[in-house]
Amino acid sequence: MIPAIEQRLPCTNKPTLFHAPDGRDYNDRAKQSRITYAKALCLSCPIVRECRQHARATREPHGIWGGETADERRDALAQAA
Ligand code: SF4
Repeated sequence: MIPAIEQRLPCTNKPTLFHAPDGRDYNDRAKQSRITYAKALCLSCPIVRECRQHARATREPHGIWGGETADERRDALAQAA
C-alpha cells in the first residue's frame, strides 16, 4: 500500500517520466519532451523544495528530482561550492 503522502506526489506511478526508460531516451526530442513534462509536474508537487534539497544533499546522479535534471543539480552544487 502506498502511503498517503506518496499518493499525492505527481511522480508516483510515473517512474519512466522522471528517469529515462532503460537508462536512455528514444531520441533527443523524446528526452526534452519527457523532461519538460516531468518538471511541470514537479512544480505542482507539495514537497518540491524538500525533494530538490534531498537530491542535492545525496548527490543523486540520475533522474529529475525537485524539478531539476542531474545536470542542473551538478551545476547548482558547483555554483554553491
Ligand atoms: S518534486 Fe520530487 S516528489 Fe515531487 S513530483 Fe517532482 S520528483 Fe516527485
